[in-house]
Amino acid sequence: MIEIDGSIGEGGGQIVRSSLALSIITGKPFQIYQIRANRKKPGLLNQHLTAVNAAAEISAAKTSGVKLGSSAFTFDPTTIKAGNYRFDIGTAGSTMLVFQTILPPLMLAKEPSSITLEGGTHNPMAPPFEFIKNTFLPLLERMDVTVRANLNSYGFYPQGGGSLKFDIQPTGKLIPLHLKEKGAIKAVNARALVVKLPDEIGNRELRVLESELSQLNEKNVLVVEEGRSAGNVVTVEIVSDALTETVTAIGERGVKAEQVAHTAAVEANHYLASQAAVGEHLCDQLLLPMALAGEGSFLTSVLSAHTTTNIAVIQKFLNVEIETESIAPGLFSVKVHSRNIS
Ligand code: ATP
Repeated sequence: MIEIDGSIGEGGGQIVRSSLALSIITGKPFQIYQIRANRKKPGLLNQHLTAVNAAAEISAAKTSGVKLGSSAFTFDPTTIKAGNYRFDIGTAGSTMLVFQTILPPLMLAKEPSSITLEGGTHNPMAPPFEFIKNTFLPLLERMDVTVRANLNSYGFYPQGGGSLKFDIQPTGKLIPLHLKEKGAIKAVNARALVVKLPDEIGNRELRVLESELSQLNEKNVLVVEEGRSAGNVVTVEIVSDALTETVTAIGERGVKAEQVAHTAAVEANHYLASQAAVGEHLCDQLLLPMALAGEGSFLTSVLSAHTTTNIAVIQKFLNVEIETESIAPGLFSVKVHSRNIS
């Protein structure tokens, strides 16, 4: 059984999710301990618990120690079962992170799958829906996996109540992806989403983005009146020759709208100033599909602790070389290649 120390590097939930996905795909059982040891509230929270249970369901896994607050569990999968699934986190925990756990096995299954997820759709420190739909999934499409993503209702902390559906068309073999410089910037589009809150919040955010972004083409405020929870998200979509990157900042109680927009503008300007095609968050999330393809490479603007931690977890399950190199300030190269001859 592979042993995973959940406290290494970033010491967060990503270690749990990557281990689950890779265990199912490789058929290798694992045990994990010191789960999320570097977080304020360590152990499995609702979001992680839903991810473990979802992973167990799609792989008919035998598990032990899986419960709310657990700091250790074992996981022994038997298969990959494509199908129609519905998973409800029960809180505003991130549905996107549950999706991140079960997508890799389901995208390599023999049949298509349909997944409905309920919980949070826009959470701090997690990929928001727009990032998954407009940045991550189009790159997977280039690797031969087609996923249709539909958001039915928004879910924000603390009420949650978000609902989404993903239809996954799997592939028999992932096509390797290579992304270098971003090339020409075709458009920078900003949107302030305001759900069940005054539209003035969105207008104030756009004024900040207009004055702070180094480039801005289209901008709009989207006001949504229905849904269980209220919330606000600033999205900056950067379309280049290489790909579409999505930078987001989530509105929070007690944080001024101007500050939310400023946070997004700083991250977007940092990305725009770098030659790299891949931004900070996409970087750690591309590693797993590239490792599964047995090959891939990219330039990134930030090499985060999430990235170095994910590399360590991937190498516990797959025989891959993942080389990172600092090329210039704000420019790193990441190269993935399989060590397997067969
Ligand atoms: P915890 O660490 O508390 O367990 P967690 O389960 O949310 O939290 P992390 O290990 O912190 O997990 O992983 C968060 C994931 O969300 C990473 O893959 C990271 O790249 C991604 N992410 C965070 N913020 C963004 C963002 N703004 N856009 C896209 N992805 C993001």
